[in-house]
Amino acid sequence: MTSPVWHPFTQHGLNEPIPRVTHGEGAILHTADGRRIVDAISSWWVTTHGHGHPRIAAAIAAQAATLDQIIFAGWTHEPAEDVAAELIRLTPPELTRVFFSDSGSTAVEVALKMALGFWANRGEPRERILVMQHSYHGDTIGAMSVGARGVFNRPYAPLLFDVGTIPFPTDPQATLDALEAQARAGAAAFIVEPLVLGAGGMLIYPPAVLAEMRAICARHGVLFIADEVMTGWGRTGTLFACEQAGVVPDILCLSKGLTGGAVPLAVTLASEAIFEAHRSTDRSRQFFHSSSYTANPIACAAARANFTIWREEPVADRIATLAARQAAHLADAAQHRRAANPRQLGTIAALEVGHDEGYLSDLAPRLLAHFRDRDLLVRPLGNTLYVMPPYSIAADDLARVWHAIGEALDMVV
Ligand SMILES: *Cc1c(COP(=O)(O)O)cnc(C)c1O
Repeated sequence: MTSPVWHPFTQHGLNEPIPRVTHGEGAILHTADGRRIVDAISSWWVTTHGHGHPRIAAAIAAQAATLDQIIFAGWTHEPAEDVAAELIRLTPPELTRVFFSDSGSTAVEVALKMALGFWANRGEPRERILVMQHSYHGDTIGAMSVGARGVFNRPYAPLLFDVGTIPFPTDPQATLDALEAQARAGAAAFIVEPLVLGAGGMLIYPPAVLAEMRAICARHGVLFIADEVMTGWGRTGTLFACEQAGVVPDILCLSKGLTGGAVPLAVTLASEAIFEAHRSTDRSRQFFHSSSYTANPIACAAARANFTIWREEPVADRIATLAARQAAHLADAAQHRRAANPRQLGTIAALEVGHDEGYLSDLAPRLLAHFRDRDLLVRPLGNTLYVMPPYSIAADDLARVWHAIGEALDMVV
């Protein structure tokens, strides 16, 4: 009997195998048919320390037995208070308020609503959102609206709102000029993935450009939203990517590694000015957003355990070790005549194989099958191969991944 499960980003008509995973440990996943798989993409960019970290597992179990769920409108609990307090300590002092939600997409929706609420409550309605070309901010309607348009969202185009798009900084001056012009014309906010555009193809740009973009927004009063859903929690070598540019956003979106990747949780941090624009004795000015599981105590307990791991375990050393190994493997792979545009930021390494034929080219499924056959979880973005493993991945498992990348480069003729 076939499964009734409808999977995300999966073409069921192709009948590709869907492995059944039974348990995970560190960077390794085990399947029902007895295979040992290396998770080279951190289960879609979320697993930072490794699967089944004992501290996070214990925190989840203890919290589930204590307080599983509580309405968060007008109520609070210790795990949420602890998580918010620690986030305020970890981020720049200008960010003073923490709003909880449950995915990267909703963190982005919340950021956009905060930005428009800020302007509306100040009686200076600004509506236009500025975005960067090739961006990805999630799959809900608002998040799709501020992301790149293409095959992923064409049928839903009638639901998406208009945005101002500035070019990806291949030519930094062109990007800055475009942002300057659009910001001067008046915009509510600019949303951007700092330093790396993830789903857009692991496209990396320099910290100086990020800093310049932030300065332009500040000059024109355009709110600066940093979407660190993918880049946060050490991915790029620092806790947050914005640190590398000395950038302080007005609004910061975090999710993915917030719980170490164990359970869904997201936050949108905001400056005091944005919070103040909503604070009043008038209920019509409050921030109108909630979801059933806002600040779920079990998820908050997992995030709190994640913070303990960051404080008490050598996470920065693991990241530095992984980054150095990635650099060595990438340098090797870059020698291949079919390898193009090798690049790295922190724990993320990427390159292109062969020629770009777009996401739906037949190369993509061949690459996917190549890695699947070798018990590796690698999921190319079109012809972009990238490696973004949990920080605890063993050296020989990482070497296996890169060996298979070498074979994949040989495969392309
Ligand atoms: C993954 C991602 C999102 C969406 O997060 P979900 O939890 O999948 O909704 C948003 N922004 C960026 C930069 C992402 O990489």
